[in-house]
Amino acid sequence: MIKPQTLQVIKATVPVLKTHGEALTRLFYQRMFENNPEVKAYFNQAHQHSGSQQQALATAICAYAENIDNPEALSAAVELIAQKHASLGIKPEHYPIVGQNLLLAIKELLGDDASDDIIDAWAEAYQALAEIFIEREKQIYTEHEVQHGWQGFKQFEVIRREKSSEVITSFYLQPADGQPLAAHQAGQYITVKLKADGPEHTMRQYSLSNPPGKDYYRISVKRETGSEKPQPDGLVSNFLHDKVKPGDLLWLAPPCGEFTLQSPVDKPVVMIAGGVGITPLLSMLHQHLTDRSQRVTLIQATINGQTRAFKQELDRLEKQYSEFDCHVRYSQPSDEDKITDNHDSEGLIDAALINSLDLTADFYLCGPPAMMRHCLTLLNNAGVTSEQIHLEAFGPALPLAS
Ligand code: FAD
Repeated sequence: MIKPQTLQVIKATVPVLKTHGEALTRLFYQRMFENNPEVKAYFNQAHQHSGSQQQALATAICAYAENIDNPEALSAAVELIAQKHASLGIKPEHYPIVGQNLLLAIKELLGDDASDDIIDAWAEAYQALAEIFIEREKQIYTEHEVQHGWQGFKQFEVIRREKSSEVITSFYLQPADGQPLAAHQAGQYITVKLKADGPEHTMRQYSLSNPPGKDYYRISVKRETGSEKPQPDGLVSNFLHDKVKPGDLLWLAPPCGEFTLQSPVDKPVVMIAGGVGITPLLSMLHQHLTDRSQRVTLIQATINGQTRAFKQELDRLEKQYSEFDCHVRYSQPSDEDKITDNHDSEGLIDAALINSLDLTADFYLCGPPAMMRHCLTLLNNAGVTSEQIHLEAFGPALPLAS
């Protein structure tokens, strides 16, 4: 139990956190990587460069301070973060490292204003939060052991690779030890750990795009290219595209994540995918079509026919299941992309398209942050409630409200 006096002090720091939260988290990461370089491998340095990690942490700290007397309000955020931590193998011994460097950063940022009361309150509040994460992550590791028969990383063999679009390659993976695979929950992701550049391991998460219950996992990876020099090409996606071939071994952590099909069985579902954000939705679509008979609509936003992923698989599902409609929205269709009927259309996702959907449905979204923000605004304007909306972000969870 956090002391009542501590709750008051933490709440009093909210205005400072709202103004200086990102300065605090920038300082925190800087100090932590200087003082404890051993934890660097758990953080994607590209997210440090873009500032998205610092922004996500600042938002999370602020939300914690605001709701410190109402932890229920944080339960969804705690679950999302605990799943991410478990996917990376975060252990109880990592929490004191974060705590010490966070307090150092608070002291440094506040200078003379860093009273003992404030530092003591944040030490107590951080410890309380760390205990919640440690406990939940312990449960997740146990669930991995029980459900999947392994925790941590184990080797998988690449049994096949195939082109899913001009920019997306799929890799089919099976346990190298020959053990059977337990079904994942559609929408979940695995973590790949590999040496892409030098002796250090790098980790990245990839959603499983295959239907649950197969004897393989399929990940589908978009090649990330740096838009302008000196922006480098994405490290792991390019390594997978250029170097990884059938017969190679990759280290994988068990499926994690809470972005799963949670709607009541009698509720229609709409999925909105932007680019490679189709991956978790494709797995969910397979699960929905196998288990349920309610309507499911997929809006697949993509640049053109060359970048459109999984065309054959989606065409096949559409032929096989009358309750499934796929609508492709091309932002820059090429001459070969024939936009002939209601099936396909040109432009960005807009109010007319959203309003043509069943607005009583549950909505599942995955795509680039700007597209998801745009869709959320359109859905809110159309009267879709936040309880109907489920989101997955392919990076640090960003504040999506516009
Ligand atoms: P990184 O090296 O991480 O770089 C990312 C971007 O930052 C690139 O555009 C790069 O140009 C830029 N960058 C890197 N360094 C710098 C620098 N110093 N300065 C400026 N810019 C820089 N991806 C998929 O393709 N398919 C999926 O199914 C998928 N599922 C995911 C599920 C989850 C839950 C999450 C969190 C992510 C998922 N991702 C998925 C994203 C994936 O994890 C990787 O982030 C993605 O592959 C890019 O990794 P990378 O190593 O290639 O790029």
